[in-house]
Amino acid sequence: MTRPFNFSAGPAALPEEVLQQAASEMLDWHGSGMGVMEMSHRGKEFTAIAHQAEADLRAILAVPATHKILFMQGGAIAENAIVPMNLSRGGRADYVITGSWSQKSAKEAHKYCEVHLAASNAADHHTTLPDYGSWQISDNAAYVHVCSNETIHGVEMHELPDLAALGTQAPLVIDCSSHIVSRPIDWSRVGLAYAGAQKNIGPAGLTLVIVREDLIGHALPITPSAFDYQIVADNGSMYNTPPTYPWYLAGLVFQWIQRQREGELTGLAAIEARNVAKAKLFYDYVDASGFYVNKVAGNCRSRMNIPFFLPSDDLNDAFLSGAKDAGLLQLKGHKSVGGMRASIYNAMPLAGVQALVDYMKTFAARHG
Ligand SMILES: *Cc1c(COP(=O)(O)O)cnc(C)c1O
Repeated sequence: MTRPFNFSAGPAALPEEVLQQAASEMLDWHGSGMGVMEMSHRGKEFTAIAHQAEADLRAILAVPATHKILFMQGGAIAENAIVPMNLSRGGRADYVITGSWSQKSAKEAHKYCEVHLAASNAADHHTTLPDYGSWQISDNAAYVHVCSNETIHGVEMHELPDLAALGTQAPLVIDCSSHIVSRPIDWSRVGLAYAGAQKNIGPAGLTLVIVREDLIGHALPITPSAFDYQIVADNGSMYNTPPTYPWYLAGLVFQWIQRQREGELTGLAAIEARNVAKAKLFYDYVDASGFYVNKVAGNCRSRMNIPFFLPSDDLNDAFLSGAKDAGLLQLKGHKSVGGMRASIYNAMPLAGVQALVDYMKTFAARHG
């Protein structure tokens, strides 16, 4: 069976090989007589699955020994509260607004700490990245929060800010939900990274938190125990029952990443090279088309999420139904931005982006 190409922003397409492996292990994992969903999270089988997934993620992202990896629940939206509860110490935290997701993070943090807006691209309708040198960072900021890839507006930080060089000791917190494992992360610049799994890692229900150890252990007294990083870390992410099946599936995705080859490149480097090629193919076509438009500034265009517009909204329905007939699914843009959006995460092959571009050429020729 060949499946259509699925451009969903999330929950998003998973590598077909991974889905097939999960299907083959559904009833009996490695001769245990049990499916992964039916196992005790404390048994030796699931413990092995969990430890392997963590070790593989640590290897893929080169997470240093200074940082813990936590497997949590609640999604990135819950982290909007969990981060200030754990890191703010009731003081002040700085937020940089680059789109809907960072806006949402700042709004939620208000409940737990004083929020200072260090920079914003709202005046540019979230199509630019405020120059790092222009950020107004508080002297006493407990942390500086950014969304390193804005899933809705398609704005990506291709290099993370170096806060130390900007003159602050505050740790950088990144919501990297929609581009984690699409490229390396410079951990020397990151105190805490969090990501919901359903964009680039696995099924919804799992949230990854990668946090520098010295930032743990200062949670506000109101913090729910299940969301206190210290308690989660001390219990190996098993203080409460973790989302075992998404954890397992994420592990299969990590193994898939490690198997990837692209010329001389392997693993995450191969994935990144492929992502660069996919994004280039798409943006180059859109910019040259004279028909479609992407409004994001060239230095911060996302490799993962690409909003684009047709010359008239009156064409949107015809574009979407023709796309569906051509085997290209879930291209409708987010309602706050309008137009279309192609999400081209790790699981999207170059052939899928090529098929989309081919369809867009045909559509433009008919309607241009
Ligand atoms: C999808 C997404 C979220 C929201 O994730 P939930 O799982 O719904 O909490 C937050 N931030 C970013 C960058 C996202 O892409």
